[in-house]
Amino acid sequence: MRGSQVSVASNLRVTQMRVGEPIDLIKVVSSPICFLVLFLGSDLGFSDGAFVFGAQRQDSSGLKETPGGNSNQLIPQESKQLKPPIRLISKDQRTSFDGNRSFDYLKDICKIGPRPSASKGMGKQKKYIQTHFESIGGQFLQQEFIAKSPYSGKNVKLHNLLIRWHPERTRRILICCHHDTRPFADADKRNPRAKFIGANDGGSGVALLCELGHHMESLDGVFGIDFVFFDGEEFVIQRPRDQMFLGSTFFAEQYSRGIPKWRYECAVLVDMVADKDLQIPLEGNSLHFARGLTEEIWDVAREIGVKEFVPEEFKFIRDDHLPLNEIAKIPTCDIIDFNFPNPTAGNIYWHTREDKIENCSAESLGKVGAVVLAWLHRKQRTEK
Ligand SMILES: [Zn+2]
Repeated sequence: MRGSQVSVASNLRVTQMRVGEPIDLIKVVSSPICFLVLFLGSDLGFSDGAFVFGAQRQDSSGLKETPGGNSNQLIPQESKQLKPPIRLISKDQRTSFDGNRSFDYLKDICKIGPRPSASKGMGKQKKYIQTHFESIGGQFLQQEFIAKSPYSGKNVKLHNLLIRWHPERTRRILICCHHDTRPFADADKRNPRAKFIGANDGGSGVALLCELGHHMESLDGVFGIDFVFFDGEEFVIQRPRDQMFLGSTFFAEQYSRGIPKWRYECAVLVDMVADKDLQIPLEGNSLHFARGLTEEIWDVAREIGVKEFVPEEFKFIRDDHLPLNEIAKIPTCDIIDFNFPNPTAGNIYWHTREDKIENCSAESLGKVGAVVLAWLHRKQRTEK
């Protein structure tokens, strides 16, 4: 994500974070022809142009169901060690979000190493995500699209991952994050070509959803929940040449064309939510596009005593929620702590080697997860 210059009047105090790009949307290299289906049984190289496709039925939704059978069959030998341990949930844990378990997922994800789009690390993480969610009852689908590699300029295939809960429910809520990490630690003053782990920026959203998944099957109510992991949020080496938000833009374009068939009433994006020093101010674009939803979430945080959701000051962040709001017209709120490590020090860990597990905490994941889960419970209770 990226901070942006803003001139929206408000009775709240506006923090101008940085002069970013104009707010017009990113054009993604995509078309219905490019909208391909990824075949999970295939042997994927995750390098430019090296893809093999098998046969699978296709419908107009563009989102494909995993072929039936044991998902273990799809895990190649080399990634078996990355298979997530099944972390069981006890009865009394069913309504409480477990920050420690979420942090364990974060550790697993960081152990994979860097996970930029179309990389081996991302391939491993994808298998981790699939195995994890299938083991706890989620339906795994993925959406493939074409983007230009910032390394080679050639077309590569990227993937949004979708986990569906209660697919029979027609009213749906989307919870999302990005699953790619920055190609390099390019804001690192000493070594801008260093490996970037992205524990907070990239990893934290995935880890939060891994834990949240444990609570979805038992979530009674009118809404079905979908998790989406966007690819290509920051498949960027050089700005402004390389575009951001590729996966969310593609997803939003397909959705706005009536693909898939289901509809979302609202969406919540989580990004950079594991910072040890958690401070989540209201986000300006979320208020602009989805004020009711955003206030609802901060109300829930107040009710359950999560003071880190700061209600007064807000910033405008460019993130995956923009395509969802602007193209898909899904009211979407971004929950993001953009001061990493904290407002006093500024955002000095962002896109540097300091974005590592040691600067993240289970407590922060637990607090954000608790708010999202409590908000979902409230939605299910109040909208019958
Ligand atoms: Zn980032």
